[in-house]
Amino acid sequence: MLAEKLLLNLLITIAPVLFCSALLDHKNKLNNPYLVGILHSIAALACMTFSYANYGFYWDLRYVPVIIAFLYAGREAGGIVLLTIIIARILMGGDTVIFGIVNSLFTALIPFLMMKKFWNCPPNKRVFLTIIAGGWSLVVCYLSLRVSRYFEGDLFKLDFNIPDVLLIGLIETIAIALAAKLHEGMIERNKMKEEIQRAEKLNTLGELAASIAHEVRNPLTVVKGFLQLMQQQEAGKNYEYLTLVLSELARAESIINDYLNFAKPKFEKIEEFLLTEVLSEVMMLLTPLAAKQGVQLESQLDYAKFILFTDRNQLKQALVNLIKNAIEATPEGGKVTIHNKSDQTSASILISDTGKGMTPEQLSRIGTLFYTTKDKGTGLGTSVSLRIIETMRGKVSYQSEPGLGTIVTMVLPSGRKEELVNI
Ligand code: ADP
Ligand code: MG
Repeated sequence: MLAEKLLLNLLITIAPVLFCSALLDHKNKLNNPYLVGILHSIAALACMTFSYANYGFYWDLRYVPVIIAFLYAGREAGGIVLLTIIIARILMGGDTVIFGIVNSLFTALIPFLMMKKFWNCPPNKRVFLTIIAGGWSLVVCYLSLRVSRYFEGDLFKLDFNIPDVLLIGLIETIAIALAAKLHEGMIERNKMKEEIQRAEKLNTLGELAASIAHEVRNPLTVVKGFLQLMQQQEAGKNYEYLTLVLSELARAESIINDYLNFAKPKFEKIEEFLLTEVLSEVMMLLTPLAAKQGVQLESQLDYAKFILFTDRNQLKQALVNLIKNAIEATPEGGKVTIHNKSDQTSASILISDTGKGMTPEQLSRIGTLFYTTKDKGTGLGTSVSLRIIETMRGKVSYQSEPGLGTIVTMVLPSGRKEELVNI
């Protein structure tokens, strides 16, 4: 009898959560607390209707809606449910009315106090806190049973069945955990929906920015041409200014090119080449920069003939960006090492540095467009490289330890013409 009633109660308590799923707004909180309060009040009343009367008390899961309403929908919703329960309990009458009221108030106390910090916790902790609040309501019920027995003059009278009490505890915990989990599922789903909408917006913005960047590049080229002409004819003081203007113009141009390359990497000349050839070229290109920074640039190349079939210049660009970052992150006297391994199907290139490394927070942001920690950085290099490697169907992963250094691993698939010719 008890089990049946409790199982019915369990279904009743999760019903309003399912209703609420349709009422969830964009802030992940239930949008109308009064409506949510009324829904949970109905559930609490239904629980009380199907309660199990024994030991002078009514046993049901009425406190589950109170706790859920306080924690997931706020003070107003919780208050409505609490008030409904108290009024209903008074109307039900009996000897234990006062216990029913005190129990309800004490039960509501913990979720009420938790409310403020609740939304600062991660989802799993929120479920845990809800279960704790449920546990607290069981403790309150047990204590009130004890107190009632005390007033009857026999504090240690054990007139209730232990399995019954355990069953009540178990089913209430299941009900509350289930309701909390369902809520979290709803919140998660809503967040994903928002994330998709945001991504779509960003995508459109990205396309727009790319077309503007493209339009800006043409007048820049014209301006640059005329400035170069003017510089050739200029012998006076303006010569220095023009040099400065031209260098800044070149910087603007390179940023725009990087951005355009990120938006849509152009693979102009697809050819077969040896990976080690490109690696040696990149090493030669960057050795002066490393020397200027006082960083030792070393390579341990495996000269196995690994052939790639893609745009050589794009791969070079990707490698230059990543190695340049490694050099820039390394203090004077540090070391940057490049080595590669390959088998039949793929080649990996490892760029390790003894630089400042990155914290997990920085690591999670790497590759985000315009993310930079440098004064004169653009935050484009890594994004461009990742995009290029992605287009080549390769993968890049980062391992980093603050203060120790970073290892960037790039894995590239071997080039087979029929597969890669379309990119
Ligand atoms: P930029 O070099 O213009 O800052 P990037 O996209 O190339 O832009 O790099 C973004 C940020 O990632 C850098 O500002 C730096 O903080 C971090 N970063 C990239 N590579 C490394 C590395 N090897 N070690 C430490 N930090 C790095
Ligand atoms: Mg960079």
